[in-house]
Amino acid sequence: MVDIEKPSNFIRHIIDADLRAGKYASRLWSGRPGPAAQQGAGAGDTATIRTRFPPEPNGYLHFGHAKSICLNFGLALDYGGACHLRFDDTNPEKEDQEYVDSIIDAVRWLGFDWQDNQYFASDYFQWMYDFAERLIEAGHAYVDSQTGDEMRASRGTLTDPGRNSPFRSRAPAENLALFRAMRAGEFPDGTHILRAKIDMSSGNINMRDPPIYRIRHATHHNTGDVWCVYPMYTYAHPIEDALENITHSICTLEFEDQRPFYDWLLARLAELGCVNTPLPQQIEFARLNLSYVVLSKRKLIQLVEEKHVDGWDDPRLPTLVGARRRGFTPEGFRRFSEMIGVSKSDSWIDISVLEDCQREHLNETAPRRTAVLDPGKLIIDNYPEGQEEQCLAPNHPQKPEWGKRAVAFSRELWIEREDFMEAPSKGYFRLFPGNTVRLRYGFVVKCAGAERDADGNITAVHCDYLPDSKSGTPGSDSYKVKGNIHWVAARHAYACEVRLYDRLFAVEAPGEGGLDFIGDLNPRSKVVVTAQLEAALKDAAAEDRVQFERHGYFVADRIDSRPGAPVFNRAVTLKDSWAKGK
Ligand code: ATP
Ligand code: MG
Repeated sequence: MVDIEKPSNFIRHIIDADLRAGKYASRLWSGRPGPAAQQGAGAGDTATIRTRFPPEPNGYLHFGHAKSICLNFGLALDYGGACHLRFDDTNPEKEDQEYVDSIIDAVRWLGFDWQDNQYFASDYFQWMYDFAERLIEAGHAYVDSQTGDEMRASRGTLTDPGRNSPFRSRAPAENLALFRAMRAGEFPDGTHILRAKIDMSSGNINMRDPPIYRIRHATHHNTGDVWCVYPMYTYAHPIEDALENITHSICTLEFEDQRPFYDWLLARLAELGCVNTPLPQQIEFARLNLSYVVLSKRKLIQLVEEKHVDGWDDPRLPTLVGARRRGFTPEGFRRFSEMIGVSKSDSWIDISVLEDCQREHLNETAPRRTAVLDPGKLIIDNYPEGQEEQCLAPNHPQKPEWGKRAVAFSRELWIEREDFMEAPSKGYFRLFPGNTVRLRYGFVVKCAGAERDADGNITAVHCDYLPDSKSGTPGSDSYKVKGNIHWVAARHAYACEVRLYDRLFAVEAPGEGGLDFIGDLNPRSKVVVTAQLEAALKDAAAEDRVQFERHGYFVADRIDSRPGAPVFNRAVTLKDSWAKGK
């Protein structure tokens, strides 16, 4: 069993210490994001901590985001805090309402609730702009009019300090006038840029007067053409956190070198009375790297655009919409997230850990059903034609309280073709001439042999049944057989499309060794079969999850299923078929 006790971790230690010290106890909060002047009129913040999940609405969420979502929302839940859903939409070019909607769906699906704390960073553009003017007036920012090439050339390297821009000594009044002209649309893109005035000789390149506002004549999905200057991400993000009264701003490790700027900027804005104190603190953790998938947005887009998969919600993609169609569960993701925990150093998690978490939850929750995925006929010669009866099959072997269901039994059945062998190999206990097996939850049958067509292909297997061997009737246990196979009565079966999904990539690290990752796709990641299912599965509702006995966990596809005509997707097999040594 997976231990889903919440293990402690370094982020919890920081929060515990902050709460013990009362670090954030005195925060004022008006109930809405805003600068210090507005929060000052507010009451104390009743949320112990505030975290946020800040996706940029420029793509579909993937398994890596699930880790971040479970972490941020999970901490808020555990500590009696709040977690904000914030769309970090400061970049005018790549964002889209379609992504906003899909992100909302995905976070809800994972089971989290942000109450009324749903925000758009672009709603703060005016405050961000005003703060930039305050920084200019205080001598903390200047307009640089070098070309891009000149700026790059004077930035220095990891070992050499940078050089001051010739425009660095502009007076605040001149900077302010230029910045206002930038905002008024008087200059084309790239002609001027607003930079923080920090230290061109800093050992941290991010502190060498980083750009904070650029000219960009572009239409924004939320603010339209109101703005032609846009804040840089590194400037916008700390401000968003401060305006929203975030206490712990949790992000991935690549932002570690940005933390000094995060702190510098908010300290200046606090001095200037722009933002509320105590200030939020940035905490970095290692991003999720998973074997057998790719999580980079660029690679996911390539897979979709080049049609290696059937769209963003393809069940093989590591997107959350894909996982949902695959039959994965929110509980499985939350369990996974608890299991892998958080750390400060990069590591790889094997995809089997996620699959096991899904399997465990599905095992507990999915009723058992019968499906023959590779159907061949079994004819019971001594069972009267036209006769039929019911057999009782348990809905879950470990949960008798779930009861049993009746399944029809008759003369012609579907069985898996691999459950018959003319000449059995060693250790094969299923149907072969002369052998007896139990038809699971039904009768014991004795195999007579097979019928073949002109080409030698088996068209039907024949057997006789033992009338007093019916499961559940007195004395039926006295038959000792080694084979126990599943079946579906042919006359009642529901013939159905079933998609047998498997890992999208055939290797642990797609694209490793310089090869194109596309070359590592698993050619058998989607196999479509026409299966024969027990009759009642015809009534499965979209997203019903079941275990097909002996096969794995399946879900009625939420897109392609029709009432009375569901199609099924395989979520995971019963056991890890990729485990080493198999
Ligand atoms: P990009 O920066 O290329 O746009 P992204 O995957 O970082 O892609 P964001 O929308 O910025 O996309 O991510 C939102 C949040 O999800 C961020 O806080 C980010 O740190 C977190 N996140 C993204 N990928 C992972 C990952 N693999 N593991 C953990 N957290 C992740
Ligand atoms: Mg990002």
